[in-house]
Amino acid sequence: TDQHHICIGCGVKVQTENPEGLGYAPSSALEKETIICQRCFRLKHYNEVQDVSLTDDDFLKILNGLGKTDALIVMIVDIFDFNGSWLPGLHRFVGHNKVILVGNKVDLLPKSVKHNKLINWMKQQSRELGLRPEEVFLVSAAKGWNIKETAAAIDEIRDGKDVYVVGCTNVGKSSFINRIIKEVTGEGDIITTSHFPGTTLDIIKIPLDDEKSLIDTPGIINHHQMAHFVDKKDLKLITPKKEIKPKVFQLNEGQTLFFGGLARFDYVNGGSSPRRSFVCYFSNELHIHRTKTENADELYKKHVGDMLTPPRKEHIDSFPEFVKQEFIVKEAKTDIVFSGLGWITVNEPGAKLIAYVPKGVQAMIRKSLI
Ligand code: GDP
Repeated sequence: TDQHHICIGCGVKVQTENPEGLGYAPSSALEKETIICQRCFRLKHYNEVQDVSLTDDDFLKILNGLGKTDALIVMIVDIFDFNGSWLPGLHRFVGHNKVILVGNKVDLLPKSVKHNKLINWMKQQSRELGLRPEEVFLVSAAKGWNIKETAAAIDEIRDGKDVYVVGCTNVGKSSFINRIIKEVTGEGDIITTSHFPGTTLDIIKIPLDDEKSLIDTPGIINHHQMAHFVDKKDLKLITPKKEIKPKVFQLNEGQTLFFGGLARFDYVNGGSSPRRSFVCYFSNELHIHRTKTENADELYKKHVGDMLTPPRKEHIDSFPEFVKQEFIVKEAKTDIVFSGLGWITVNEPGAKLIAYVPKGVQAMIRKSLI
């Protein structure tokens, strides 16, 4: 083989035909002095963390392990990315164990959101996803909101058993556990680590007051999260840090919104009410650009990486192409979700909409969260 067509990262033979295949690089990459495959490029420049299959495999072992234990399972989700941070299939593995669902990062939602309503929404969504949690809590691990109450409820519901805390990466599991540690041990340094049976992964055990432990399992990487397609700087920008200020857009049929250059939303038609308002819940720092749909393709080609950013210029080559998905809003108060990025609430039924997300990221429709 021609050594110029070997990836300097992993040594794989570089190919330019199949973007899904091993060793893929865009043909422009072959003109550079050193060649790096797309996977290594992502590893180097983006926030993509670990070997894909290994992680999934180990996680499966953990899930299998859960069913064999007699324990309380606490699943944490990020309320800003509810569906993207859900652990699909958990319900098939929990066996007879009880599950508590904790929605973290509630500090990001507008203060006007009623927590009881949101908890009911979470219960309903859980049922649709096949899980029937014993209890649902809303917390902010960052702010320490509702931690005491949740810890007390966990202690009661566990009924003398071990507690396993599970969740996808970035949901705030570590922050939550750190808060719990303070509640149960009073800052004490009594955390132990051990191997999770059947895996090479370290787990952290926090002794509870009756010989039982609270066990922190490793976070699973959810490959559909937007986080894997942007670099660290951009991840900071798209991750809201404080209360989201919803932005309302009055759109006419045939208008389009761009969320940076990361997603696009077309308002195709609205039936009996052609002019409609769309409430956008995204990071306050993410620039939303409005344009006519007929100009949108060209605008994107021209301005992705500058006016429509993130992604930034230097990352456009490896940024996945948009995939479009059409939605018909059938019910009042519906969200169109751009997984990990935010959502748009549509108040009235009857609209035809198109969502564009980078290939690999999920777009979906759901009953409105707020
Ligand atoms: P882990 O990967 O699940 O262990 O998550 P971490 O605890 O490391 O947190 C992931 C990110 O979410 C970090 O940037 C945290 O600062 C942030 N985070 C964690 N808890 C909260 C929260 O309650 N509110 C907000 N706004 N951010 C949080």
